[in-house]
Amino acid sequence: MTEMSYLDGNMLDGPLRELFAVDLSPAIARCESCGMTGPLAGLHVYPHAPGLVARCPACTQVMLRLVRAPDRAWLDLRGATFLQVPLPPDQPRP
Ligand SMILES: [Zn+2]
Repeated sequence: MTEMSYLDGNMLDGPLRELFAVDLSPAIARCESCGMTGPLAGLHVYPHAPGLVARCPACTQVMLRLVRAPDRAWLDLRGATFLQVPLPPDQPRP
């Protein structure tokens, strides 16, 4: 079996920043397959597929797929139970 090379999840920052107004690099995700919880930066990202495929570093289950076309993007998070996004503290409303 041939081992495919991958990049670390930090490389997802730019492509995801195009979709979301917050920085997702410190976001936490839980793998649906094995339950491992960790930062997106820890995922193994395979850029050789059509788009980006990010796999769990523990069990290699696909947790995130991102495909970019010239005028749209598809984000598939089926392999993640949740995505926890850090936000600034909620400010009291006047
Ligand atoms: Zn896993």
